[in-house]
Amino acid sequence: MAQAHADEMLARNIASVVNRPVCVTALFCEDCDAPIPEQRRRAVWGVTRCVSCQDMGERYSR
Ligand SMILES: [Zn+2]
Repeated sequence: MAQAHADEMLARNIASVVNRPVCVTALFCEDCDAPIPEQRRRAVWGVTRCVSCQDMGERYSR
C-alpha cells in the first residue's frame, strides 16, 4: 500500500507539472515571421500569429 501511495503521489506531481500552464506563445509570427509584441502575447493566450495574419486567418475560416 505504501508503494502504491508513493506512486500516486509521484503521478500527481508529474501531472501538476504537465498541467501547469506553459507559455506556448510564439515570439514571431508563424506566417510572416514578424515579431509579435509582448503585449499581444499576454493578451492572446497561445497566439502564434501577428495581428494581420491572425485577422486574415479568421476571415478565411469563416
Ligand atoms: Zn504575420
